[in-house]
Amino acid sequence: MRNGNKAATIKTERKFAEELLKTGKIRIGWVQCQIRKKIQITRCFRCLGYGHRTGEYQGEDKSDLCIKCGKRGHVARDCNNPPYCATCNRDGHRADRMGCPTFRKLINQESRRRANRRTTYRNGDGLQDSVFTN
Ligand SMILES: [Zn+2]
Ligand SMILES: [Zn+2]
Ligand SMILES: [Zn+2]
Repeated sequence: MRNGNKAATIKTERKFAEELLKTGKIRIGWVQCQIRKKIQITRCFRCLGYGHRTGEYQGEDKSDLCIKCGKRGHVARDCNNPPYCATCNRDGHRADRMGCPTFRKLINQESRRRANRRTTYRNGDGLQDSVFTN
């Protein structure tokens, strides 16, 4: 176990795991760790689709679109347009992760898949794409 990069893998009952995720803390020895459920969904920054990596699929290049309204020529910070998701091709929400039902659906699928396997908690690096599911 290296300094500042602690990882623990625990086998638990689902109910207990949910309890842990709710409190966000677990005591391992003398160390109290923040825990997160690590779920990563691959996202393509070319077509803004999910489930494949940039370059694996030659879809429409949407990499320069505004993440808020799906139009070109400005960034979301300067955007006053109503939200439009270029991933779903629908209006009403932005194309960023938690606003998008397509992404949430993938997260739900993935967390259900994981519930059938062992539950892994990590504390450390590689958490940039992690989200909470509840
Ligand atoms: Zn793509
Ligand atoms: Zn915009
Ligand atoms: Zn969407």
